[in-house]
Amino acid sequence: MPVTDQAFVTLATNDVYCHGALVLGQSLRNHKTSRRLAVLITSQVSSAMRAALNTIFDTVVDVNEIDSNDSMHLALLERLELGVTFTKLHCWTLTQYSKCVFMDADTLVLCNIDELFDREELSAAPDSGWPDCFNSGVFVFKPSLKTYNLLLQFANEHGSFDGADQGLLNSFFNNWATTDINKHLPFLYNLSSSVVYTYAPAFQYFGKDAKVVHFLGPSKPWNYKYNPQTRTVIEDGSSSLSNSQLCFLQLWWTTYSSDVLPLLEKTQESSEPQIQREEPNLSGDESKLERGNPATSSSLPANEEHVSETVANSPDELFAKKDDVTSSVSELCIQPNPEVLSAEDERRKWEEGHIDYLGKDAFENIKKKLDSFLL
Ligand code: UDP
Ligand code: MN
Repeated sequence: MPVTDQAFVTLATNDVYCHGALVLGQSLRNHKTSRRLAVLITSQVSSAMRAALNTIFDTVVDVNEIDSNDSMHLALLERLELGVTFTKLHCWTLTQYSKCVFMDADTLVLCNIDELFDREELSAAPDSGWPDCFNSGVFVFKPSLKTYNLLLQFANEHGSFDGADQGLLNSFFNNWATTDINKHLPFLYNLSSSVVYTYAPAFQYFGKDAKVVHFLGPSKPWNYKYNPQTRTVIEDGSSSLSNSQLCFLQLWWTTYSSDVLPLLEKTQESSEPQIQREEPNLSGDESKLERGNPATSSSLPANEEHVSETVANSPDELFAKKDDVTSSVSELCIQPNPEVLSAEDERRKWEEGHIDYLGKDAFENIKKKLDSFLL
């Protein structure tokens, strides 16, 4: 049964972030949410994008852009472009809903997460950079004009310690870290893809249960290049990605190419010809995206030629079949089986000093082996 007074809400202030919003919305639909989908947009969003958003989202709401204009703190964060994230505050004006879950446009849902609506305002997951702060990429809130006005007033009086929405919201809901553990969402509801580096064993152990992946940071999925024929994301030389990060990116791109791109082709056709489409990089061509990004602006390594050759020419070639969408993160991203080595390779690894002290070469296992010889 659809629940009409609750909604997932996202934000896109330009066409580039709309690609993310469309994939997020589609991922919520693929996992059969019973809640409404709403997207906040600003005047910069083109009519072709609006048409596409309208087919996935129940409501597309035009809002004014709010910018923190706090270049000093944003410079410290090294994300000057994030002043406009103050626009997120408009989500509190959606009073047609009794409760909502806000999700950044750079998040991707991996399973049904409707249980989040059992939580109260303000519930969110810890930020991996400073876990006493919540990450504002996913949070449960209750729309209210009173709260909205208080937030604006707070922003005017105190600004934001990071120049973006996350600093502001953490100062406003300042007892999140200490008061009610029910307002702490498990990290699995906002798994930043970089955690794979910072605490790899935890990712290996818990990652299979991830529910939402958040492509936090300056490189977004739409900044990468993708080969639709091999259905692989192409790494460029300037960044090195772990297998797990590549898998998450692949998942985003699978949803994009199988569900969103066909939609964009359609809405593009029906919109005025002068509208210039900005879309993620499907080929080795130069990026057309607004925000400069090292991953797209640097030249591709040796595989560039190969990529241009294999890139599909017709839209049909780009579409993966819907059945092919792999949505289970454990299927794709976790590598549960440690490599199986021959006895000879095993000995060579030992001699080279590659010893798995915590795994098969742990003292316990060596002792067992010795015991078996002795007995
Ligand atoms: N956003 C937007 N336009 C922008 C920058 C951000 O619409 O130019 C929205 C979008 O929903 C995005 C969110 O604000 O997901 C927060 O920004 P971002 O995800 O880039 O920040 P990060 O999660 O990397 O800190
Ligand atoms: Mn984000």
